[in-house]
Amino acid sequence: MSSDLSPVIGKVFLVGAGPGDPGLITVRGAECLAQADLVLYDGLVNPLLLRLTKGLCVRTARVRRDDALIVAQAEINARLISEAQAGRTVVRLKGGDPYIFGRGGEEVVALYEAGIPFEVVPGVTAATGAGEYAGFSFTHREISSSVAFVTGHEDPNREESRLNYRALAAFPGTLVFYMGLSRIKEICEQLQVAGMPGNVPAAVVCHASLPSQKVVEGTLETLPALTAIQHLRPPSLIVIGECVRHRAQLSWFEKLPLFGVSIGVTRPEDQAEDVAQQIVRMGGEPVLMPMIQVGPVNRPQQTEIARVLRQLQRFQWLVFTSVNGVAEFFRHLHDAKLDTRCLANAQIAAIGPSTAERLRSFGINPDVVPAEYNAESLARTLATKVHGKTVLWVRASRGRDVLPRMLTDVGALFAQLVVYENRDVDTLCPEVASRLKAGTLDWIGLSSPSIARRFAQLLKTATIAPAELLTRIATISPLTSAAARESGLTVAVEATVATWNGILQAIERSKYSPPSQK
Ligand code: SAH
Repeated sequence: MSSDLSPVIGKVFLVGAGPGDPGLITVRGAECLAQADLVLYDGLVNPLLLRLTKGLCVRTARVRRDDALIVAQAEINARLISEAQAGRTVVRLKGGDPYIFGRGGEEVVALYEAGIPFEVVPGVTAATGAGEYAGFSFTHREISSSVAFVTGHEDPNREESRLNYRALAAFPGTLVFYMGLSRIKEICEQLQVAGMPGNVPAAVVCHASLPSQKVVEGTLETLPALTAIQHLRPPSLIVIGECVRHRAQLSWFEKLPLFGVSIGVTRPEDQAEDVAQQIVRMGGEPVLMPMIQVGPVNRPQQTEIARVLRQLQRFQWLVFTSVNGVAEFFRHLHDAKLDTRCLANAQIAAIGPSTAERLRSFGINPDVVPAEYNAESLARTLATKVHGKTVLWVRASRGRDVLPRMLTDVGALFAQLVVYENRDVDTLCPEVASRLKAGTLDWIGLSSPSIARRFAQLLKTATIAPAELLTRIATISPLTSAAARESGLTVAVEATVATWNGILQAIERSKYSPPSQK
């Protein structure tokens, strides 16, 4: 019987994360992540998905890869149970689909036996991810009437679990082996011994649906030797059947403009979402490495902000120079129990398209967006309009003094309102530092002079000499390039339009022209 004193039991959601591309999680899976207090994710899950949750995230890996912790299955089951018993909403996030070779079934049985409520959300399994992203139509009408998902990771010492190669060799369709790369030689040999012709097309797909996706094509006979010389890294699948031949027509992912390119995004994390998303959609790998943390202002400042907001009608112009400034401004407006009617008398200026877009999301269409997206251009555009007018600049705690200088010069009655704080990040995260040292991060985008300077400082703290950096630098504007060069960095490309989109376009263009400097 339930009473107010009985403990509230939580719930476990077993969610399929998909094969790698974070866009391949289901809508239901994303909803579960948004509600989670705790996310236990396995080694195959793309960490970019963790942006969908505010809960605590803990990685569990049963196989040692890099420096990940190995957690025994029994321990995972016990944690799922105890967290739910403590009343938490837990998401168990698993690569691909939870029930396809994922031990999801075992986890659910443990929950069932412990009386824990659960739901299970399907995911795109690695095979279908590889099918679409690498170009294999497993059951293409003219070539195959069935497909089998097979584990290649059978314990050879367990007589009874040996694969029935004779049945597999006679299978009338495509075979997809999971977990088989380390035993590829044996798999291909055994299929031939069991009667499958050696010239049957076969391929290995590594990291399907990720920017690091790689496909090696051959035949049953040639594939083991071909893969041996390629230094392929798991996870990977072996695809065997006629469908391998048609890949040239079906492949699209590897043709995306930034396919395989990794790009460090130095923006504050809460503004990096759009950029990360766009890099993924262009086939690249975003690596989040914020140089500046954005935080709220302190209490006395909040009181001051509320005081200014109540007098907003005094201002004839409001100037916004960052996406964050817009978001924080409206948050403070809301906290002060005010709304957009306060802005009715003011003309509004935005420094660039992203800031303008954020304003539009609050129902405000800016009157001015300069042709070039920097403070000088904004000041020049406003110069003819603000003489003798009251102007309020909504800003971060740190920034350049171009606007106050230039607008006071033209006779504006200039005031400023700091709505959020910028703080420097102290260190590079270890993963980024090691990739910079190893040269496995292709690019870094620097989107302001202060970010460029900060990045150079952090390199030195990580004992990397800016001049020896293997990663190429793309900057947002000439000013940022100048700051980067002054800090000892070499700039490889510069955006022609001063937005993150411009940075990505510059990187894309550089693919077609040899790097002038490295
Ligand atoms: N539940 C997962 C499979 C877990 S078993 C799913 O439905 O996909 C782990 C195996 O999945 C790996 O050894 C590999 O064979 C395969 N795998 C997972 N992600 C992969 C990917 N992105 N590309 C290729 N194979 C992958």
